[in-house]
Amino acid sequence: MAFKIAYGAGHYLHEAGKRLPRQLDANETREWTLNDRVARYFAEAAAQYEDVELLRTDDPTGETEVNLQPRCDKANAFDANLALSIHHNAGAELTEAGGIVAYSYYNSTEGAKYRDIIYDACIAAGGLKGNRAEPKNEAGFHVLKHTHMPAVLMEYGFMDSLLDAPVILQEEYSKKMGYATMEGIARAAGLKKKVTTAPDVAPVPSTSESGKYTLEQFVRDVQAATGSSVDGIAGQETIGNTVTVSAYKNQTHEVVAAIQKRLAALGYDVVGEPDGVAGPKFEAAVLAFQEDNRCWVDGELTAKNKTWQKLLEMI
Ligand SMILES: [Zn+2]
Repeated sequence: MAFKIAYGAGHYLHEAGKRLPRQLDANETREWTLNDRVARYFAEAAAQYEDVELLRTDDPTGETEVNLQPRCDKANAFDANLALSIHHNAGAELTEAGGIVAYSYYNSTEGAKYRDIIYDACIAAGGLKGNRAEPKNEAGFHVLKHTHMPAVLMEYGFMDSLLDAPVILQEEYSKKMGYATMEGIARAAGLKKKVTTAPDVAPVPSTSESGKYTLEQFVRDVQAATGSSVDGIAGQETIGNTVTVSAYKNQTHEVVAAIQKRLAALGYDVVGEPDGVAGPKFEAAVLAFQEDNRCWVDGELTAKNKTWQKLLEMI
């Protein structure tokens, strides 16, 4: 069964007031323009997943205003699994205040689940962290209240923040946020990426490819970092000596760099450069790996859960 997402860029092109202040942007870029750009990258990212159906609830040309209730009606008629409303904030009043804020409806457990994972994915992808006291929040916004499914309203940064404005104007930022938002949804909903068809060239044996971080090298590095005998074969001694690693425990343990390289080699690019420090990117990659491998999804590698064993390919 398809996973349906009703999504929309907040406002429309000609809405009065919703734009960057002249002091920060000579073009006074409209909020809808930024919302639309994130929405387009979001749709591009969504197309990479299996069984996802999208419905855009605003006018993609921006010319016509679509009011809030018709947007909710569309999402409800579509029988969406999730409603997503894309915005940029205001209220920083030319100060350095700012940052992403993610909202779900009051007491919506499901909405909060999506909200939190989307927010974390955006921050892991370089989203504006800012100084919000409660970046994951609840609100009674119309589009959250009158949709009959979990709903999330994202504010990807403040248009009138001295720090946020130059960032949100960059197309690259919109792209990262669109993709990260979809990545978060995929993780929360357990969606799988489409298998891309192999290019029509002679296959290169991946394990012998020079420069690739192999399983054997990973096992050796883990064994060396945790005091096991180094033979490149993961057995009881190896798993028995592993340590708990997460963004909160053993964040800078010697074994962290090996895990980062292993996750990158397995395609979890969100992990970033191997720097030996388990931070938000590390956590995002571990969460994605756990999701994909039917592990307990908690962002933590422990000897007793399956994550270490799966990473070491012992099971
Ligand atoms: Zn808005």
